[in-house]
Amino acid sequence: MSSLVVVGSVAIDSITTPFGARERSLGGSATHFSVSASFYTDVSVVAVIGDDFMAEDEAVFHERKINTRYLQRVPGGKTFRWVGEYGFDLNTAVTKDTQLNVFADFKPELSAELRNAPFLFLGNIQPTLQRQVREQSNAKFVAMDTMNLWIDIARDELIKTINVVDCVVINDAEARQLAGEANLIRAARKILDLGPKLLIVKRGEYGAAFFTKDSFFATAAYPLEAVFDPTGAGDSFAGGFMGHLAHADKVDDHTLRRGIIYGSVMASYNVEEFSCDRLRRLTPEEIKARFHEFKEFTHFEV
Ligand code: AMP
Repeated sequence: MSSLVVVGSVAIDSITTPFGARERSLGGSATHFSVSASFYTDVSVVAVIGDDFMAEDEAVFHERKINTRYLQRVPGGKTFRWVGEYGFDLNTAVTKDTQLNVFADFKPELSAELRNAPFLFLGNIQPTLQRQVREQSNAKFVAMDTMNLWIDIARDELIKTINVVDCVVINDAEARQLAGEANLIRAARKILDLGPKLLIVKRGEYGAAFFTKDSFFATAAYPLEAVFDPTGAGDSFAGGFMGHLAHADKVDDHTLRRGIIYGSVMASYNVEEFSCDRLRRLTPEEIKARFHEFKEFTHFEV
């Protein structure tokens, strides 16, 4: 049985960065999340794909031993497509096109087995769908992501979903937009008032932080010289974070702090190459090495 379930998009992306372009790039929130989390625990992915999803795309999930039993293929359908572009500010993706395709009629159903998985991640999809999944689950810890699109067009639904999860993982611009508050600390307080116990704010090349009502922890990002494709940084961060929690099977303060660091390690590797290319070659030794480097560069003596 999987200890961790992710619901989200499995996508075919077209990506342009200042350093190159890829016309057909395996992507999606559930893809980046599950590939990253698979280094820590057993993961099941709940998503939908079309006929254009090729064996070589699916092979990425098999290589990482991700459970794809609940990856539904819709005959005659087309996989979700996202076209994104980055300028020199690699922290901000500009969406050029989104085609929901098979996602338009997606009704995620959790099997009896998946309902009892202790950890659930609601990857970035329409917030009503996220809530439908949350309501089917008996997980003891549920986290969710979202994006500016849903804050713009489905705000009320999003707020209802935020109310029924334990943890929200979003980037700093989304936190400010959602809270209607320029100051990040005040924005965090407002988001916690919507219901979740924990808020994680991803800050791109500046790192990540978590907030609860009475605690705060932050780390810098790994100092990378070459960021090639930032797509999936947020989801691979969430995969490392949730993967570590599921592996430890607890959510105390120490585990959360280490989770933030493991998330940052996974995101730092993910952005070194297009799509999941770097994580496909990643080794546990490389994860360990960067994890220890984080300890070195954040440690100081009083
Ligand atoms: P991030 O980790 O935030 O960089 O997420 C990148 C992934 O989000 C891409 O691979 C896209 O396929 C996916 N994505 C973009 N827009 C949407 C959307 N509206 N719904 C679901 N997934 C999306």
